[in-house]
Amino acid sequence: MAAEMTLQQLQAGFDAGEIDTVLVAAPDMQGRLMGKRFHAAHFLASGYEETHCCNYLLATDMEMLTVEGYASTSWAKGYGDYMMKPDLATLRRLPWLEGTALVLCDLVDHHTHAEITISPRAILKRQIARAQAMGYVPMAATELEFYIFEQSYEALRDQGTDRLTPISAYNEDYHLFQTTKEEPLMRALRNGLYGAGIPVENSKGEAEAGQAEINIRYADMLTTADYHVITKQATKEIAHGLGKSVTFMAKYDHRRAGSSSHVHQSLWTPEGAAAFMDGDAEYGMSALMRQYMAGQLAHAREITAFLAPNVNSYKRFCTGMFAPTKAVWSLDNRTAGFRVCGDGSRAVRVECRIGGADLNPYLACAALLAAGLAGIEQGMALEPELHGDMYGAREAREIPKTLREAADLLDGSEMLRAAFGDEVVEHYTHAARWEISEHDRVVTDWERRRLLERG
Ligand code: ADP
Repeated sequence: MAAEMTLQQLQAGFDAGEIDTVLVAAPDMQGRLMGKRFHAAHFLASGYEETHCCNYLLATDMEMLTVEGYASTSWAKGYGDYMMKPDLATLRRLPWLEGTALVLCDLVDHHTHAEITISPRAILKRQIARAQAMGYVPMAATELEFYIFEQSYEALRDQGTDRLTPISAYNEDYHLFQTTKEEPLMRALRNGLYGAGIPVENSKGEAEAGQAEINIRYADMLTTADYHVITKQATKEIAHGLGKSVTFMAKYDHRRAGSSSHVHQSLWTPEGAAAFMDGDAEYGMSALMRQYMAGQLAHAREITAFLAPNVNSYKRFCTGMFAPTKAVWSLDNRTAGFRVCGDGSRAVRVECRIGGADLNPYLACAALLAAGLAGIEQGMALEPELHGDMYGAREAREIPKTLREAADLLDGSEMLRAAFGDEVVEHYTHAARWEISEHDRVVTDWERRRLLERG
């Protein structure tokens, strides 16, 4: 049976007793997969056409709190339904869950059947359509870093998260012996993704004890965002099955490196030509690529809330740990927010290094694309490249230092208001400000440790 399935193949898998469950899922604001588990018989009878979910799924926080103040839904509006419309092109089996397939859904209005404006998948689709109308196919890859811990999620729930035990005792960047010890998880992950039709390239140890990276081959942006959310889910599920846990927090411990999700991007023509390449130009970068990058740099600060969506995300931006602090560009330089890779080849591309592993890939790709397209539309000139160690570049454009700053920049972004619409900008500004207000309100362990006795 093919990894990606048609409905007929699902039917055949069900008839053969190979598949009995279908996960019907939609990505939420946080990039989590939310939905229902269907018996395959019911999915095949009617679920493949539509199902429903409470419309609070695009208006809750991580704790599923009914946050007040959203225009899209509220107690006053009665928290009605969205229709979940399966995108059957995403139907695939999940080899790491027995007898199980998955389909991703679009969220649509349950009366008009129009896509919900604030839905992350819809937001990305609209920007892709905009690129296509300009004659380009946006391609991307979202590298994903995470930490692996010896304890299960259940053990951590019981014992607390103060004493996390990373799976390795030393920095395991590219380390083949240490990563051999992690193969029960990582091999199952690579093979599970491959079996689900996700073109996994490789995994590697990362630059901290217990940190890993998984790379998926680049694809059109929507497919890449779909791969990303499924990959996160797979990593957690496989780790859980082995009694381990993983985290995609941007910075789980201030003493350790953060986890990133670098976004590699390029534009192609519908015929498959690399529109970012010009063999005669500097680094092989076409005029189009220069304009695209100019747009991303000009708007980098406004789109940061979509690359770093949590209060915690901003703790990753610190000197000397491979996370950038400056939104500038440079050739193959890991201290810059935007790194040009694959120079002089068809693979020439820009890697945005600002995003944390906690980003929502639909929103991050949509925001990056919107900024790049604005650069092309306005024929923006690319600023000079910076060289050397960007951490010390005093004059260089700073990445916002807090979610508070990023939320204000998002709110005031005319580029994003034009590209996404006011409704989207206001919705996600509200989400960011809710996170800030929760963080402002909650007393943390750090405060108790610092003040309880000595304060
Ligand atoms: P590095 O090790 O320097 O980060 P890799 O060769 O591992 O670079 O590639 C990183 C990611 O970039 C991979 O997921 C790969 O599929 C993706 N990639 C390669 N070429 C392109 C391209 N033209 N556009 C977008 N992504 C690309």
